[in-house]
Amino acid sequence: MTSRRARWSARSTWALLVGALAAAALVLAVPAWRGPAVLVVPTTAVALVVLGIALHRPRGGAWWLVALMLALWGAAPWLAQTTGRADGPPAALVWAGQAVAAGIVLHVARGREGGREPSPGGRLDLVVIAAVVALVGAQLVAVALADHGDATGVAVAGVDVVLLGVLLRFAVSRRALPVSSWLLLSAGLLTVVYDLSCSLHGRRTALPGEAVQSLAVLALLLFGIAALHPSMTVAFTAETFTRRRRPSAALLGLLPLVAVPAALWWVARSAGAPGLPGWTVPVTGALVAALCLLRAAAALRASEHLAEHDPLTDLANRRGLARAHAEPPGPGGRSLLLLDLDDFKEVNDTHGHDVGDALLLQVRDRLVGAVREVCAGTGVVARLGGDEFVVLAPAACAGEVAGRLLRALQVPVVVRGLVLRAGASVGVAREDAAAPVPLAELLTRADVAMYAAKSAGGGRAADFHPAMREEVARRYTLSGQVRRLLAGRAPDVGHLEVHHQPLVELASGRVVGAEALVRWRHPQHGLLAPDAFLALVSTNDLDAELDAVVLQEVVDQLSRWRDQGRRELPVAVNLTRASLDDPDLADRVLTLLADAGVPTSQLHLEITEHQQLAVDGPAAASLADLRAAGVEVHLDDYGTGYTSLDYLRRFPVQVLKLDRSVVGAVADGDAQLVAGVQAMAAALGLQVVAEGVETPQQRARLIELGVRYGQGYLFSRPLTARDYADRVLGPARSHGPHPQRTAAPGVVAAP
Ligand code: C2E
Ligand code: CA
Ligand code: CA
Repeated sequence: MTSRRARWSARSTWALLVGALAAAALVLAVPAWRGPAVLVVPTTAVALVVLGIALHRPRGGAWWLVALMLALWGAAPWLAQTTGRADGPPAALVWAGQAVAAGIVLHVARGREGGREPSPGGRLDLVVIAAVVALVGAQLVAVALADHGDATGVAVAGVDVVLLGVLLRFAVSRRALPVSSWLLLSAGLLTVVYDLSCSLHGRRTALPGEAVQSLAVLALLLFGIAALHPSMTVAFTAETFTRRRRPSAALLGLLPLVAVPAALWWVARSAGAPGLPGWTVPVTGALVAALCLLRAAAALRASEHLAEHDPLTDLANRRGLARAHAEPPGPGGRSLLLLDLDDFKEVNDTHGHDVGDALLLQVRDRLVGAVREVCAGTGVVARLGGDEFVVLAPAACAGEVAGRLLRALQVPVVVRGLVLRAGASVGVAREDAAAPVPLAELLTRADVAMYAAKSAGGGRAADFHPAMREEVARRYTLSGQVRRLLAGRAPDVGHLEVHHQPLVELASGRVVGAEALVRWRHPQHGLLAPDAFLALVSTNDLDAELDAVVLQEVVDQLSRWRDQGRRELPVAVNLTRASLDDPDLADRVLTLLADAGVPTSQLHLEITEHQQLAVDGPAAASLADLRAAGVEVHLDDYGTGYTSLDYLRRFPVQVLKLDRSVVGAVADGDAQLVAGVQAMAAALGLQVVAEGVETPQQRARLIELGVRYGQGYLFSRPLTARDYADRVLGPARSHGPHPQRTAAPGVVAAP
């Protein structure tokens, strides 16, 4: 529909344009037509504009002003013709037409004010235009004072010259003007040329029969066609006029203005009017040229700044950093600190890029503040993109800066009511004054050190050491192997194994289930714990694949144990955020269980609280479905991060797993947190499992505090599936009915 209408309008616009050209040619070619044209053409133009207004119903009165202007313009030569005045129409009429035209320009100018604040370059543009307009004013006064025969003609020509400059400038500096605006602009330019030509011949309007009359015909009809085009509704809107081209085009747009002083002088000369004295031309020309140079310098400076600064934070970018690094280091050498936020990707993914950007700005403020305080204004802060910041500072203060930065980032950042942590890892590389290091190498070293800091758990700084490179190389190889491991059968990179760590009832020591913990049986490195490769899985975006492998393995194992007639205890599987973001999670898990013939009560899922799941995301729905089907949901690592009660309300959680760090403090008399969590859990009807129980003292204290279940080295380390089955699940009884769930004491002896 729309495209058909657009095509129609494009075609009909072309048809009308051809018609207008034909009319202009006819006036030129057939002298008999010239007389009637003086009346017919303006009337047609006014009628077209009124028709356009009726068809498209634009807002505001700009188009009515256009109609009025055309009527006045049409009346002038017609009056001149009918009254037989050889010197043209009455001056008042000419001025009235000119006043209406000025009204339209003002109307547009006023609409522009709503636009954005003028840039410094934009303000200089205005000065250039003001200088040119002042010159015209002076010219007009000079002509008036000289009492020249046709002051009006010369004045009109002067205004025309300026209009010509302004219109040309406008055409060059705006982008994506609608068709209607282009037609108006062309009509305006033709009118100005026509006026100028008449003035130069000492007349106000062309006499019927003069060739330039065809210009007027074309211009008038173009005004009418502009009104017919559907885009006429936006031809005068503020957005149309504020949509500028690039700064370079705006700069080019000043060129027509530079020519105005000389053109003015020439017009006055040609009209035989005593204009301003000749010296005004070079003086104003020089002034305008100087202003244009200033304007160009301002534009250049802005782009130089942009080339070396990051648009979001206005900190130095990589180029700006290179420039700072090109300065020789002080006698004590200098250090480059590379800072990378620890969980920035999660913030971006969970809360959106606007929140991420706001967080980066607050981090910038803290960095700049810390560097200013410690290094007394000698350090440079840069942003290399994403969440990577760099500080280049004298070595003497760099160590303190690192500490100060990390402390400054410990205070949570509040963005739009969200409390966010902006923990960071910092890598430090040093450069001695005697042995300068190229920036690229310095950055690589800092990056290697930063990576080491991150691998060590984040939230810390690490100094570069050559041995770190080997570690990085090792990780690089491992990263490729992880991809192949999870892509499918690749025996040369080993295989994944699922180990089981028993969960016990603290008081009795009875095993009530297990947590499945993944390991990587690696051909060179032996049995790798999750810490050694989970981060690589994550950076390769393979979390969901890993979860799927472990889930499949656990369900298969449960099914086998079932077939063997062993005790049926639940197993808890850890899920990453990637799995929870999958809307098909519940379907997948339930299908898996059904296919293997494993009851839903035998599978538990552990989710981690600081994953900050969106409450309206797919996780809440999936977990609710799973819960309804009988799969328990456990909240892992409870007590380590920001803990929201809302989280417990929104997600169908049955068990809180108290983090090892909280449990570890229990025996040292620091039991308040555990007591509080236990009380809250009891009130909410949740069970608590204490993780990382290592000593009998911890166990005793936890029992006193009312915690019912535990998991830890005191009871058992994670076991291979075979060991777990043999020690906990009892002997295989391959055939016959499944045994009752007796309270058989599958106790794993405490060491
Ligand atoms: P987690 O879920 O908190 O798992 C408990 C970790 O604590 C396990 O480390 C376990 O071996 C260890 N642990 C248990 N008892 C004690 C104790 O008494 N003292 C000490 N010091 N540690 C104890 P593991 O197996 O290295 O797993 C580390 C983390 O890796 C897990 O923390 C979990 O977040 C993740 N993970 C492990 N397996 C999987 C998996 O299959 N899938 C996913 N997505 N994540 C897994
Ligand atoms: Ca866990
Ligand atoms: Ca845990």
